[in-house]
Amino acid sequence: MTIAGKYTIALEEHYYDPELAATFDGPEGRATEIRRRLDDLGELRIREMDESGIDLQVISHGAPSTQRLNAESAVRLARGANDRLHQAVLRHPDRFAGFAALPTPDPTASVVELERTVKEYGFKGAMVHGLTNGVFFDDKRFWPIMAKAAELDVPIYLHPAVPDQRVVEAYYKDYLADYPGILTAAWGFTMETATAGMRMVLSGAFEAYPNLKIILGHLGEGLPFLLWRINMALQRPGNKPVNFQEVFSRNVYITTSGNFSTPALICSMLEMGIDHILYSVDYPFVLNPPGTKWMEDLQVSAEDKEKILSGNAKRLLRI
Ligand code: MN
Repeated sequence: MTIAGKYTIALEEHYYDPELAATFDGPEGRATEIRRRLDDLGELRIREMDESGIDLQVISHGAPSTQRLNAESAVRLARGANDRLHQAVLRHPDRFAGFAALPTPDPTASVVELERTVKEYGFKGAMVHGLTNGVFFDDKRFWPIMAKAAELDVPIYLHPAVPDQRVVEAYYKDYLADYPGILTAAWGFTMETATAGMRMVLSGAFEAYPNLKIILGHLGEGLPFLLWRINMALQRPGNKPVNFQEVFSRNVYITTSGNFSTPALICSMLEMGIDHILYSVDYPFVLNPPGTKWMEDLQVSAEDKEKILSGNAKRLLRI
């Protein structure tokens, strides 16, 4: 089948590499139906793509990927995971593409790995999950990675991970026993990743690298809804000059992963314009069919729907 008769690309779609995933205890460790899908880069994944009209998945590792390892392990495991992902893409080149895992605990090696996977493997960019051992991605030590991404003209997807332990203690621990979701997709993921997006703009990285493109999932982690207020508050006296709204709308792209809300999508379209909004599911933490139904029923123009489903991704990822 197809979604609304359109070619469809989804780009926040996860898997687990056997060696890398053995280094962490994911929250889905006991949810065997999710784990079974994370472990599959073949028949099951493609069947579920076919059933929901997804033509191409840009596949990335699940959180926290290599972001919480020591430098040596991160470099070794990222390289191995990327090699194996490339093999899976080669087996299904018309259905799969890849986002690299970067060993951010070693920024210099991350630059090398990004260039290697983009140039040799045709990867479409990279995904970074949450803080790297407590450090946000806007930190100067990671700017060489941004410079390389801008040079290669590939985006970096800033994806959530379980929040920093200091934040868990201060903000969430009272509610964790009854509502573990507060730590993840219900709130903790969103707050931390929105903060990462905020900090990226304030860091000046987009002035240093005007071609740098960042992707945020989950319809921009709430930031499109807050753009007006953020922009207004940052223009009050005492703040360095910054046009947050303009920079965000120029250098940041958002996907629909795990947030199939029509009002939230309309808000994002009004604040950012249609050209920076890309379809994604967040498979297998979210399954494909609800996204397909949402897109089928969505009352936007055929042209806008085509841009969301693949037109914008084709341009951003040069597919
Ligand atoms: Mn995800």
